Amino acid sequence: AQVDTLDIVVLVLLLLGSVAYFTKGTYWAVPKDPYATSALNGTASKKGSRNIVEKMEELGKNCVIFYGSQTGTAEDYASRLAKEGHARFGLNTMTADLEEYDYENLDTFPEDKVAFFVMATYGEGEPTDNAVEFWEFINGDPPSFSEGEEDKPLKNLKYVTFGLGNNTYEHYNLMVRNLDKQLTKLGAQRIGTAGEGDDGAGTMEEDFLGWKEPMWAALTEAMGLEEREAVYEPVFSVEEREDLSPDSDTVYLGEPNKNHLENTQKGPYNAHNPFIAPIAESRELFTVKDRNCLHMEIDISGSGLTYTTGDHIAVWPTNAGLEVDRLLKVFGLYEKRDRVINLKAIDPTAKVPFPTPTTYDAAVRYHMEICAPVSRQFIATLAAFAPTEEAKKEMVRLGSDADYFKEKVSSHMLNIAQAVAAVHPGPWSAVPFSCLVEGINKIQPRYYSISSSSLVQPNKVSITAVVESIRIPGAGHVVKGVTTNYLLALKQKQNGDPDPSPHGLTYAITGPRNKYDGIHVPVHVRHSNFKLPSNSSKPIIMVGPGTGVAPFRGFVQERAEQAKKGEEVGTTVLFYGCRRPTEDWLYKDEWEEYKKALGDKLIIFNAFSRETKQKVYVQHLIQQNGKLVNELLQQKANFYVCGDAAHMAREVNDILAQIIAAERGIDEQKGEQVVKSMRSSGAYQEDVW
Ligand code: FAD
Repeated sequence: AQVDTLDIVVLVLLLLGSVAYFTKGTYWAVPKDPYATSALNGTASKKGSRNIVEKMEELGKNCVIFYGSQTGTAEDYASRLAKEGHARFGLNTMTADLEEYDYENLDTFPEDKVAFFVMATYGEGEPTDNAVEFWEFINGDPPSFSEGEEDKPLKNLKYVTFGLGNNTYEHYNLMVRNLDKQLTKLGAQRIGTAGEGDDGAGTMEEDFLGWKEPMWAALTEAMGLEEREAVYEPVFSVEEREDLSPDSDTVYLGEPNKNHLENTQKGPYNAHNPFIAPIAESRELFTVKDRNCLHMEIDISGSGLTYTTGDHIAVWPTNAGLEVDRLLKVFGLYEKRDRVINLKAIDPTAKVPFPTPTTYDAAVRYHMEICAPVSRQFIATLAAFAPTEEAKKEMVRLGSDADYFKEKVSSHMLNIAQAVAAVHPGPWSAVPFSCLVEGINKIQPRYYSISSSSLVQPNKVSITAVVESIRIPGAGHVVKGVTTNYLLALKQKQNGDPDPSPHGLTYAITGPRNKYDGIHVPVHVRHSNFKLPSNSSKPIIMVGPGTGVAPFRGFVQERAEQAKKGEEVGTTVLFYGCRRPTEDWLYKDEWEEYKKALGDKLIIFNAFSRETKQKVYVQHLIQQNGKLVNELLQQKANFYVCGDAAHMAREVNDILAQIIAAERGIDEQKGEQVVKSMRSSGAYQEDVW
């Protein structure tokens, strides 16, 4: 097939626009070796300079892209901006984890440089874990800058900012909005608009793409930049190591860091260092064949990990063999999957997102989010490496036409290997492995609300997880959640269930070098603010349909234990919902046990949505019991909501405002005010996802 001049122009433009995509993940941060032992103790970042002005000077950088990231998306966007800024505009970019620097000298930030802030808002309008200190500093009253006294201390600072938020939450994009306000107040000059991406509307990626072009135009003008022709420059050099085999001691086969490689795993266990925990027990909670919900007891004894009721546990997943094979085949890596490779960052501020030397297989299986939704920008990037001209044309079209992309890729929920194979079965051997590592996110641990009480079982954490399985109508393909299907396979194996590979998915269940054998799973614990009142006699109201009941099982378990010990326990109300009592009523028998301990202190309202013609949801039951709810609130009850953020949580919020208004004879706006102030005082708490 022929490519005409127009095609070439389009291709070049796309390459310009998309080459930034090559740095998904964490490759532009300050160099450190997160896989070395010292990093596990949190000392690695302290060794490097925490002075960003000095660091940029030293490395010859004129553009820093800070990120406040929880799940990796903000970090990914930061990397993409860094790559694009360099490729298209010749900026000397670096990304920077907000927690790795100090900000007292931000008032000495040079005028001819620029700082980007890519800020995710987390939970109830909170900063992400890595942004907490920066947040506290910049919101100081006033922040104490090194040079002192001035009225507009940041007048030399040029900044660009983009926020990642979710409009179903009360404090939509609060981080970016407040940061923008605060920086302006301190005299800094914003370039372009303060962008906002909305995960709730499912438009994050398109919001980001739409924001960045006018931003680049504004930055070009403000800094006197010139756009240039971008060519692909790999971020990593990938070397195949003939001298090593997968049996060599130094080769990582999926071990998360050096201690794990050397069989000396030790704490502290955290987001950089999982504990390989035994699963003490696992079982199915649903009684229907076509849906699964898992209860698992994860043993953390001896790990030094602790939790309190209401915390979260993170599970580190492994990709399904089927998907690993699919990706390796499509990109022509299948035959050499076990070859040992070394990745080195070409730019000193980039970092390799997983420990090496490793194999293609291990990198893909343990470290890359290969099943996730595909970004249009990445498709455009891959066009340059298509095996045929026709495939290239199709990739260019998919990359540049948002509607066409939606029709062909997003609406079928294809992952990257499926999307590429649908254009051309491959192999797409011309795609550099560096490009895949840059373009595919680092795999993320998934969080689960702990469903046990730390008072009752301090060394065993239980989770309640519904197995994700979405059939795409007409396409004959089913999207399988990465982590929950991995957990399902572990449960099957543990219980000797007849079908060891449910839905045809198999996993490397015994882990790298069989280190997870005997049913283990890598985990760490994340502390949350979702907490029972310290005074057990306070009443509580909990709203948790479906797996939203998880933390409330822990809450009730705890209160039952307190009652057994003779402590005074306040009224404990649970609004629960599921489809049918015979199908998916979670912990049906256990509630009876708790009732024995708590007597009439425990009140449970069950909404069964498929039992009657008219569907009944928790929202209806809350409304019907408005009088009780209001009375308890007037006795200073805490109100908790857990589960579906998109619909349920928001509706519950509104219903509560209506109830308060009706019961107290005030207007609805005042009712809303009451709920708002409950939220800010911590009397209304959400744990939603
Ligand atoms: P993933 O692979 O992450 O897929 C998740 C969803 O993403 C899919 O269902 C689909 O909608 C979409 N998706 C995946 N691939 C594609 C694609 N290629 N194209 C388009 N869309 C795609 N869950 C529980 O069950 N119980 C809990 O107690 C619980 N507590 C949580 C607490 C917190 C604080 C948070 C943040 C989440 C919690 N979750 C809980 C959710 C949980 O973390 C996981 O998100 C969930 O289990 C799905 O994980 P997975 O890896 O199986 O699915």
